Amino acid sequence: MKCAVCSRQANGLGYFNLRMRRSDPRRYSDHWVFCSMRCQSAFSNPMNRLTQFQEDAVIDPSDMELAAMRSTLAPLGEYVASIGMDRPLADYGKDEVLRLVEVVVDAYQAHMLAEHERMVERDRAFFEQIASRKAVASTGGNHHRIPF
Ligand SMILES: [Zn+2]
Repeated sequence: MKCAVCSRQANGLGYFNLRMRRSDPRRYSDHWVFCSMRCQSAFSNPMNRLTQFQEDAVIDPSDMELAAMRSTLAPLGEYVASIGMDRPLADYGKDEVLRLVEVVVDAYQAHMLAEHERMVERDRAFFEQIASRKAVASTGGNHHRIPF
């Protein structure tokens, strides 16, 4: 089982949909498991939004994944430069290849997690904006009517 956010090994932390009845199998999903509390909360906040606004839910994981791949290029280049640009890959020792893989995977996972956390932050800002608009609308009189 892989973490739904960063693809690390999941450790049994799951997600369930509070809007579904306890008896409804859709309340739980095997696909949504996480490696850590950090990834779990990064995921569950946007998911809570999705269940509330299913019509406008647009998430494009492939774009995010492509961006995460691109984010590995700089650390990959740095690592290759550190052991010598002129060395062919066939000359790499096993440890060096593993380190190369680690550099790429770390950068990929870090990007995915940061993006999910940014999504959470965007959602939070969005709801705070709505909440403050409602507060202004309910306290304002005729002179302060909100036009939308
Ligand atoms: Zn994770």
